[in-house]
Amino acid sequence: MYEQLKIANTIAAGPGPGNTDPRVLQQFASAGLADHMHPDVLNGMIECKHMLRAIWGTENTYTFGVAGTGWSGLDCMIAAVQPGDSVVVFVNGTFSGIDALSLRMKAATAEELAANPTDPDAASVNVITIAHGTSVGGDTIEQALATHKPKWALMAHYETGSGRINDVQGFSDACLRHGVLGMVDAVSSLGVADFRIDDYPGVAAWASCPQKGISCLPLTYAPVSFRQDYIDVLNQSGARCFVHHPLMEARHWGIMDGQDVEKGAYHRTHSAYAVAAFHEALRLTLAEGLANRAARYVACEDILRRAFTAMGCEVTSNMTSLVVLNLPPNMAGREMEFVTYCRSQNFGIWPTLSQPTQVRVGILNLLSNADIEDIVTRFGAALVDLGGSYDVAEVDQIIGSLQASLAAE
Ligand SMILES: *Cc1c(COP(=O)(O)O)cnc(C)c1O
Repeated sequence: MYEQLKIANTIAAGPGPGNTDPRVLQQFASAGLADHMHPDVLNGMIECKHMLRAIWGTENTYTFGVAGTGWSGLDCMIAAVQPGDSVVVFVNGTFSGIDALSLRMKAATAEELAANPTDPDAASVNVITIAHGTSVGGDTIEQALATHKPKWALMAHYETGSGRINDVQGFSDACLRHGVLGMVDAVSSLGVADFRIDDYPGVAAWASCPQKGISCLPLTYAPVSFRQDYIDVLNQSGARCFVHHPLMEARHWGIMDGQDVEKGAYHRTHSAYAVAAFHEALRLTLAEGLANRAARYVACEDILRRAFTAMGCEVTSNMTSLVVLNLPPNMAGREMEFVTYCRSQNFGIWPTLSQPTQVRVGILNLLSNADIEDIVTRFGAALVDLGGSYDVAEVDQIIGSLQASLAAE
């Protein structure tokens, strides 16, 4: 017989998944078994839909969750893209790179897909590549959309691969100017950044995930939101899928023919446990308020960045939930060894997944003074264990200033 599976408890101090709140796990484990058409489950889904609209600052009726991970939500978001459609996609790291691959698969003609099924070269997709470690800026976006005048454009908001925030305002403005349907990969920004969808009228579709800013890893729902003109395109051209079809997926959340209805209709078998966990995670986010949570991310990231810089590291990111860095010059090139060493101690930091190899340290739902002190202490200990050194008193002083700023709130 196989032994019962045991999984270690690590500090999830990477780009994702984030640390699940005990209240979310409690709800996951204590929800009763009720089928997907039970009134409590359907009602929970309707409340989740309303909470999502409130958190995300949108009146978009088509705002709901897609069962699965971030890529499930992204797959739903690009469902309306048809073979041969013109697309511009901006790539500045691992995740936007996969977004571009997904779009090349959707927009490839049958011949293009057959020529290279897992990595098609689609002539109608223009991939604009921006150097690793830099953000996608408004001028780059404007130039690309003015030149190519595509039907669709896609950009990541927070590119978790390189730790960069991209210019959503510039993206929205350029999409409006050129009549482009904009799509944003907001997998890493929802629940972390203080922003409202309805402030970006050029963006027609958004997709996020359960496990990062929303801190709901017990595999639940990837939030998505669609503006009416995206839905209009979908109504005209359709989508070649059932499970991630935005109109069909929305039915179970009580959205039909562009209207909220009292009760969802069957699309697939949703889990009462997942609905209960997701509902609690959204309640937690709403209770704290996005602005307050975003401010805690800013304060904690600032301390982490200053502590690592004091240790001699070079920080190249500007995200508020993730620090991407190079080790001190005397340890240059040992980033993978460093990450492997930390991970062997259940300190779950990450390397970058595309070149150059850098260290990524994240703080998803690790926003207390004790959490940040723990991360800095573990990081410093690993540095010393591998032959580095740093001024402990100086770093302690930096951590002390976080206590003051969190207490002041
Ligand atoms: C994490 C991430 C993804 C993928 O999300 P999964 O939950 O792993 O499917 C996609 N895009 C961005 C920007 C991400 O940070």
